[in-house]
Formats: sequence, C-alpha cells, structure tokens
Amino acid sequence: MIVSKRKPLKELENLIRNYESFFLVGCAECATLCGSGDDEALLSIKEWITKSGKTVTGWFTPKVGCQILGTKRQINQYKESLNQAQCILVLSCGAGAQTITELFEDKPVIPVNDTLFIGNMRRFREFEERCRACGECLLGITNICVITLCPKSMLNGPCGGYKNGKCEVNPELRCVWIVAYEILEKRKLLEKFYENLHGPKDWSKSNSPRALRIEGKD
Ligand code: SF4
Ligand code: SF4
Repeated sequence: MIVSKRKPLKELENLIRNYESFFLVGCAECATLCGSGDDEALLSIKEWITKSGKTVTGWFTPKVGCQILGTKRQINQYKESLNQAQCILVLSCGAGAQTITELFEDKPVIPVNDTLFIGNMRRFREFEERCRACGECLLGITNICVITLCPKSMLNGPCGGYKNGKCEVNPELRCVWIVAYEILEKRKLLEKFYENLHGPKDWSKSNSPRALRIEGKD
C-alpha cells in the first residue's frame, strides 16, 4: 500500500490562504487504511476549514483514488458542489491528487497529504517501508528487500561500517544483510543466493516517469 499522512496544518494554511470555498476528495483504499483519506480525516479537515470562516461545498470518496476513469464516473454526481468550490483539496496519495488535477483543469487542486512510501501495515495504523518500486525485484534472491531496508541500498553488504551486527547509519537497527543471511540460511537458500549474486543493478528500470500497458496475458 501507499502510505500517506496529513501535511502540517501550518503548511496547509499557507497553501489554501487564497481560497474561500473547497470541495474535499478522499480515497477509500490506501489513504483510508492510513487514516489520511477516510471519513474521519475528511470531517476533521472540514471542521478545520469551517472554523477559519471558510466554506466546504461538499465532499466525496472515490473507491480507488488513483483510478482515473472510475473516479471520473463517480465524481460526476457532485458537479454542483464542485462548481461552487474555488479549490479542490485531495486527501489521498499524490497519485489520487493527480487524478483530480487531470479531471478538473479549471480548478486548483491541493494535496492535503504527504505521500511517504510503499509499505506494510504491522498493526492498526503502524506502517513500515518495504519496497522502493525499483523495477527489478530481488526478493527471489534476497528474501527481504535490501534495497529498501539498507540505508545505502547495498547489493553486496554488509558494508564495512556495521558493528556488532548493527547498522552504522542507524545503530538501532540490525544490519539488513545479516538479517538476510540468517533468513536465507534458515530456509536453506544460501547456495541459490551465491549462485545469483547480483552485479550492478540496472537502475534505468526505475527511471521516472515510468508507464506500463498490459496488452494481454502470457
Ligand atoms: S527489490 Fe525492488 S521491487 Fe523488490 S521489494 Fe525491493 S525495492 Fe521493491
Ligand atoms: S551496516 Fe548493513 S544495513 Fe547498514 S548501511 Fe551497511 S550494509 Fe546497509
């Protein structure tokens, strides 16, 4: 999932200062799980706006904020309240915000959230980064993502800085290469790992902007 959290209110205050009326858009997927785009988040932004004497003309939560056509279809019924608003505030990740930017060319669109990372939810509203979308997944060889979990994204760790099994960049964490070694050893995958030792990574696979069109199934 894409993890996002609300921007500091001071920053938002500055972003919305030139507008008086707003339409709010949430997202029923990742941003709802993160609590940054669910009904509660929408209500809290609505209250914050109305307290400052400004108006909220309406709000809407698309099923999947980053799905452009679906959102276009669903948001149609809110035309009137959208027309009354000077500006649209989007409570989702950056992809959801850009769906709205694409659909409403004549209105300013402001993201309420900062998009942080691709991660997993360990407990309710507790998230950990797990993937950098590097375009060439190595989990089949390493089993845990060394690109994400090593602060230097080392492909041949541990680096010379690790001490007593701890990472030199963040001594509170175990060096991920030692963790990876233990996992591979336990699963009897070390041999396979050595066979597939990775040369330089092809970072061109993660050059932005990336796009994908799936023509058919193999
Ligand atoms: S190797 Fe790349 S694609 Fe696979 S989990 Fe790590 S960052 Fe994500
Ligand atoms: S100590 Fe391990 S996790 Fe930390 S930067 Fe070096 S290789 Fe990466």
